[in-house]
Amino acid sequence: MKTIGLIGGMSWESTAEYYRIINEAVKERLGGLHSAKIVMYSLDFQEIEQLQRHGKWDEATDSMVDAAKRVEKAGADFVLICTNTMHKMAEEVEASINIPLLHIADVTAETIVSLGFKKVGLLGSTYTMEEDFYKGRLKDKHGINVVIPSEADRKTVHNIIFEELCVGKITSSSREQVKTIIQKLIDQGAQGIILGCTELPFLLKQEDCSVPLFDTTMIHAKAAVDYAFRD
Ligand code: GLU
Repeated sequence: MKTIGLIGGMSWESTAEYYRIINEAVKERLGGLHSAKIVMYSLDFQEIEQLQRHGKWDEATDSMVDAAKRVEKAGADFVLICTNTMHKMAEEVEASINIPLLHIADVTAETIVSLGFKKVGLLGSTYTMEEDFYKGRLKDKHGINVVIPSEADRKTVHNIIFEELCVGKITSSSREQVKTIIQKLIDQGAQGIILGCTELPFLLKQEDCSVPLFDTTMIHAKAAVDYAFRD
């Protein structure tokens, strides 16, 4: 079993899910008292969110590269960035270390492609929904077309993520709002919906949606365990 490297804390609420899912998956495979070998570096999300908000992406990249190097130095065999948004600088992170990076969009795309889907909706931070680092990768590398909410709806989703989900607040009014936004994406032909923010699974479950939900936290964490056992 390889040692899994996690860059976490964005938010810690969702990183805790990674820790739980990874350990449960290892226990399921090996039984007994087995648990995962993990090295984690957990950032202070307030600092990261400030850099994002002020567009200080170079500094944010420096923080992520520094975190990845620490995880590598501590003995990880490969690394995960435990957030969709911070895959914006995935290429820079990858180039700065000598261990592989397991990209959240790639493993999510593999799940989508395995179902034969060609068009999906994407929910996440405004950075993830609007910029090309995520949608572009899904399209160019995996041939998946992505539909995103309107500008006003993107703002709604973003605010729910940062003002509620990242501080552990789950409300039924926000759930209803996001369900309405999802329906609009389905009306535009989305065959499934990517929960492209690692906190969105706190708000939405499969029963809230008439098409498959792609829970990126679950997919990414399980893919890490598969990778840890790969030769
Ligand atoms: N966890 C969220 C995501 O998956 C937002 C955190 C962040 O801004 O890095 O995108």
